[in-house]
Amino acid sequence: MNISDKNMRRPVAAVVALLAVASITLAGVAGYRLGYAKAMTALMSDSGHRLDLFTSTAVLMINRLSSIPATIELNADVVSLVSGEAPRNVESVNLFLHRLSAQLGSEAIFVADEQGLVVGSSNTTRQDDSRLGADIAYRPYYQDALSGFVGRHFSLGEARDTPGYFVAYPIHNGNRVTGVATVKISLNPVVDAFPLLGKPALIADRDNVVILSSQKDWLYTSLTPVSVDQRVDLELTGMYGRNRIGAFPLTVELNTEAASLGLDTVVDIPAGDNSRQTQLLIQGRTLDGMDWRLLVFSDLADVRSEAMIAAALSSLLATFLFTLVLFARQRRRAARQKQQARQALERANAELEETVARRTRALTDANAELLREMAERIQTEAMLRATQDDLVQAAKLTAFGELATGITHELAQPLGAIQTLAGNAREFVRRGDIANAQGNLAIVDDLIEKIGGIIHPLRSFARKSPAEPEEANVSAAVRNVLFLLDARLRTAEIAVANACDRSTATVWCNRNRLEQVLVNLIANAIDAMNLAETRDLGIHAGQRPDGRVFIAVEDSGKGLDATQIETLFVPFSTTKETGLGLGLAISRGIARDYGGDLLASNRPEGGAIFLLLLPQPPSRVGP
Ligand code: ADP
Repeated sequence: MNISDKNMRRPVAAVVALLAVASITLAGVAGYRLGYAKAMTALMSDSGHRLDLFTSTAVLMINRLSSIPATIELNADVVSLVSGEAPRNVESVNLFLHRLSAQLGSEAIFVADEQGLVVGSSNTTRQDDSRLGADIAYRPYYQDALSGFVGRHFSLGEARDTPGYFVAYPIHNGNRVTGVATVKISLNPVVDAFPLLGKPALIADRDNVVILSSQKDWLYTSLTPVSVDQRVDLELTGMYGRNRIGAFPLTVELNTEAASLGLDTVVDIPAGDNSRQTQLLIQGRTLDGMDWRLLVFSDLADVRSEAMIAAALSSLLATFLFTLVLFARQRRRAARQKQQARQALERANAELEETVARRTRALTDANAELLREMAERIQTEAMLRATQDDLVQAAKLTAFGELATGITHELAQPLGAIQTLAGNAREFVRRGDIANAQGNLAIVDDLIEKIGGIIHPLRSFARKSPAEPEEANVSAAVRNVLFLLDARLRTAEIAVANACDRSTATVWCNRNRLEQVLVNLIANAIDAMNLAETRDLGIHAGQRPDGRVFIAVEDSGKGLDATQIETLFVPFSTTKETGLGLGLAISRGIARDYGGDLLASNRPEGGAIFLLLLPQPPSRVGP
């Protein structure tokens, strides 16, 4: 991946991250909403169901007894008692009421006369709850019944503050209402049933005052704001005993209308000093025929935590799905990259193969070219060698030519002597002087031998011999060369100091070639001393530490200047007018051919010194 790819990826990654956050959040919100709605529906249905059950049970419990007072006016004793007509038979009335109450399970049944005085009661034996003689004229249920209607009202008991539902019926004497029969139905079973709802619940009467509740502090509070007049009215009825009607503790605006219609409402309870903000679901039911409302308060914290769980699960699911999508994308991308890499590799491979093939072709061509060049070189070398041999031969013949004059001079003297001696010998023979003739001929023999001595080195020098290495004696070679150049040395008046005469050194080199090199070196020395005042030629030989033999040829000539030393062995470098500049090049070539070398330098005292290095014969080589 290159840098621009990386730069491109950055915004893409940011968009993906944004998308991830957005979709996870969205999933969370949706999950919350759904979870909330689901939990809410479940809650409503469950607690609505309990509410219905509770309501119908409570109504049944209460209504079961509410028609009792209607039957009381059928008892003649009661009618006459409340009417004050016949001599009062209080005991029988009380007994009747007691039996009725005990049988039906009411808390109390009592009758009052037209003035509101209780004249008969089921509870005469229990002093604390006997209403006999009590004035109930102010009670609303009494007033309703005396007006000919059925009076129904909640009230706290006169004596014990026990809550009860009072149902009162008029007692007719003929067409006139002469008294009121009242039954007090205990509400304790209703209170006991509150736990069945499992939540805080209350029952409020028609004045919106809480008369029954699972919460003690809610009792005798008003769900709606109460004016002072209303409070006075409520307290005057005495229905709530000595309790003052307070305000409902939950600071909620209750939609009593909705509650009474059985509608569910949700209210927020603002956070108090010690409590957090809560949300309540309020469900209400009207208790049939009683103007009472049952309200149940469900805390929605559970609903919210269920919704939160749903939100968390949804977010988790979204995260998982997103990760799955990313993973799939990543895998696809990895596969694509792999594919691209493979293709690139295949391309590179193909290119490599192509390059290798190209290189192989080039190498094969180069090899062929090399082989061709090698063949050419070998041929050239052979030609060169042949040329070199020819050059050597030519050089020799040149030297030979130079020698010719000296040799002629050298031969002239013995030849003249031979001629004279031969003539003399002939004369001695004619005279019969054989002894003298023999003496002359003996001298002729010596002279012929001397001539042979002159010619022999010439013959071997001029011969075009193969250059095979052989054991060559250094002093013999030097001697031959000095002899050949003797005439030139003498003409040039050169003093020769040959230290090689005493040397027994031998080298592994072709004798002819060795002499050729020495002729070159000494001839050059003679040339170099042409204009010199002192003309000394020195030759000596010895062995170097590396085992090779050296032959040094030094002169007192003009010496070599610095630039010359560099080009000395380059063919055709000459300072002589008639020179070819090949002598030293060929000489070094010969020396190197036999594993030796030829070096040149200046002598400190002036003049040049040439050092010919050659290996010893193999048999001589030793430690
Ligand atoms: P040529 O003798 O034909 O010139 P050489 O190769 O034998 O060719 O010598 C090359 C040159 O080296 C000579 O021209 C000469 O200038 C120089 N040279 C050779 N030997 C000596 C020497 N002993 N002293 C000074 N110069 C020399």
